[in-house]
Amino acid sequence: MKSFAAKHKKLDVRLASRSGGCFTALSDYVLGKGGIIYGCQLDYELRAVHNRATNKDERNHFRGSKYVQSDKKDIFIQVKADLMSGLWVLFSGTTCEVVGLKSFIGKIDCSKLLLVDILCHGVPSPLLWQKYKKFCEDKIGSPAETADFRDKRKFGWASHLETIRFQDGKLYSSKDYACIFYSHYGLRPSCYHCPYKSIDHPSDFTLADCWGIDQQMEEFNDNKGVSLLLVNSGKAIALFNEINSCLDYVEVNIKNYMQLPFRMSCHVNGTKRERFWQEVKVKPFAYIVSKYGENSREEKMKRLVNALFPISLKNRLKKILGR
Ligand SMILES: Cc1cc2nc3c(=O)[nH]c(=O)nc-3n(C[C@H](O)[C@H](O)[C@H](O)COP(=O)(O)OP(=O)(O)OC[C@H]3O[C@@H](n4cnc5c(N)ncnc54)[C@H](O)[C@@H]3O)c2cc1C
Repeated sequence: MKSFAAKHKKLDVRLASRSGGCFTALSDYVLGKGGIIYGCQLDYELRAVHNRATNKDERNHFRGSKYVQSDKKDIFIQVKADLMSGLWVLFSGTTCEVVGLKSFIGKIDCSKLLLVDILCHGVPSPLLWQKYKKFCEDKIGSPAETADFRDKRKFGWASHLETIRFQDGKLYSSKDYACIFYSHYGLRPSCYHCPYKSIDHPSDFTLADCWGIDQQMEEFNDNKGVSLLLVNSGKAIALFNEINSCLDYVEVNIKNYMQLPFRMSCHVNGTKRERFWQEVKVKPFAYIVSKYGENSREEKMKRLVNALFPISLKNRLKKILGR
């Protein structure tokens, strides 16, 4: 396996992507071969769904992270049919979705199949996202039209605020959904026992945010997004050599980029998680936002701790302590 810090040479591609735009570089290659791209997009009700793309315009809807579980519909059947027709296919999704696809398609010729998984610490329930969307629609008084799950253009790569655009043209950005997501109470139960929390991934390429870049190569980070790209197979190494002219990249040691999803699943207190779901079911969503959102007691406490012990101080302490 090889690991790279990588970013697409075109700034507009990076700004439209979650991290460094490597997904666009890989999918451009497959589209160039007349191939098909599968990925996750938002539908007209802003539900996350997997879809099939045959050109760049359709593929562009897959760019950007949607922090909610995607509905795969009959996508695995379509992937298999495309492969059996002899087409190139790129399938992208979470690691468990890639494994699901592999076991579904079985022993057919996969020489033209490229598997791309995204590093994921867990997917929240679609119910939570739909309730949050409704809460925002009621607040603004207009139906939601589009959502940017991590508005990089306005707030930079490292920040996490969702921006929703409404039909009346208004925009609403907030950290509330992100705080609820990072509480981890809303994840699928299986995410707490994910068997893919290691650096061994069952795909050709793994895409992640290159967190840790500042400690290793600060000059490579312009806060517009850097991908950590894991090249996991012989097929992927050959392909990387064909696409890397559209990337700025540096080979890195994965040991310096071991964020949590490379090491273990998220853990939550089971009783607190049960209480959270009970509240989601019976209370108005405004209550969930006030208890788990940006202005919850816990988040205020975190902000206070971060103000007292800034990251630069924590990093210096880690270096002194050798960890
Ligand atoms: C639920 C979730 C959790 C994540 N957790 C982490 C994390 O812990 N650490 C980290 O470094 N990065 C995490 N990511 C982000 C992931 O690293 C980026 O999606 C990846 O770096 C791709 O960046 P890019 O710029 O190359 O691609 P982009 O152009 O942004 O492409 C996005 C890719 O993600 C896929 N995708 C988007 N939403 C979903 C979804 N809901 N389900 C399945 N596939 C989806 C698309 O199909 C596409 O292939 C998470 C993303 C999601 C959706």
